[in-house]
Amino acid sequence: MATVGKVIKCKAAVAWEANKPLVIEEIEVDVPHANEIRIKIIATGLCHTDLYHLFEGKHKDGFPVVLGHEGAGIVESVGPGVTEFQPGDKVIPLFVSQCGECRFCQSPKTNQCLEGWSSGGHETMSSLETRFTCRGQKVLQFTGTSTFSQYTVVNQIAVAKIDPSAPLDTVCLLGCGVCTGFGAAVNTAKVEPGSTCAVFGLGAVGLAAVMGCHSAGAKRIIAVDLNPDKFEKAKVFGATDFVNPNDHSEPISQVLSKMTNGGVDFSLECVGNVGVMRNALESCVQGWGVSVVVGWTDLHDVATRPIQLIGGRTWKGSYFGGFKGKHDVPQMVKAYLDKKVKLDEFITHRMPLESVNDAIDLMKNGKCIRTILSLE
Ligand code: NAD
Ligand code: ZN
Repeated sequence: MATVGKVIKCKAAVAWEANKPLVIEEIEVDVPHANEIRIKIIATGLCHTDLYHLFEGKHKDGFPVVLGHEGAGIVESVGPGVTEFQPGDKVIPLFVSQCGECRFCQSPKTNQCLEGWSSGGHETMSSLETRFTCRGQKVLQFTGTSTFSQYTVVNQIAVAKIDPSAPLDTVCLLGCGVCTGFGAAVNTAKVEPGSTCAVFGLGAVGLAAVMGCHSAGAKRIIAVDLNPDKFEKAKVFGATDFVNPNDHSEPISQVLSKMTNGGVDFSLECVGNVGVMRNALESCVQGWGVSVVVGWTDLHDVATRPIQLIGGRTWKGSYFGGFKGKHDVPQMVKAYLDKKVKLDEFITHRMPLESVNDAIDLMKNGKCIRTILSLE
């Protein structure tokens, strides 16, 4: 290919600073270094974690940056030492790496990995190194992926090779939101058949958690959101009951407790709000209730009375749904192709990368589930 071994100039949406619209720029994408892969991104979703970085977390050293971490594409070229991937392979870049060698990768108990962006650039939510420049400046790669660019470079430990027949403009959702919510229910909460569950927040992550509870055999799934427009969609994924906290004067944990004769077996917080995290925990039944924190925030401490835990509730967190990405994402792609998990139902809007700021507004205003941006 004409681009192999050369710096590529391409279009990307650059966040120059926090709280400002993204700017479509021409950026330079370096050749892949040792163990790296350069990927032509075909499509990407916009996830709330991108908004968190831009508007809420906004660490001062985290800009300029190319956001986006829910993409899919095709390998353009590979750097020295890469044997597992070839140009033309369909891939999903991963924000959770899997080096296969560290103590975490070798344990079945976690999907954490000591390598990758999270080991060095946690504060800025970006990898320490970047292959991007724009207007003579270094531009960071958000979560090491940066899918709001027509080309990106990712270490091979953070790339999943997927079925060549997979539609990239749909399976990109498995790069974050859908795996995150689905896995939080199935892998982290370990939802049991016949159980009662509550899911707080019905964005793509929460809806995927509803789908996970349903596929694990939950008999009752209570969907909780302040935005009643989300309830119809939650039904599609298997929710049985719908609660809007604004319709009640008492704490939502008491409402759920009354509805379920003492509390739910499993709850999942998919909002990113420490008050909701507390409510989700306290909605669980004493004795065995399990509550999983999925929503992403690091702005405030999370608190509860110790008796909640002494009484037998368990509080857990879930990162990328507990999936070991390189191994499990291709399986989830297969599950979609085999019609065992839904993806199309999450997509409410499609637009070109140039409209990324419209996609951000839709999410901020609760008007979408997922917008897919096309980069072709
Ligand atoms: P989204 O913005 O599409 O959905 C959030 C939903 O929460 C909305 O429907 C909103 O109306 C609802 N909500 C807001 N406040 C609420 C409240 N007080 N009570 C009930 N519902 C409320 O976001 P998303 O893309 O689905 O992401 C959800 C969360 O998951 C975000 O915090 C995101 O950062 C996080 N996330 C975590 C991981 C992980 O690995 N743990 C990965 C991806 C995303
Ligand atoms: Zn995400």
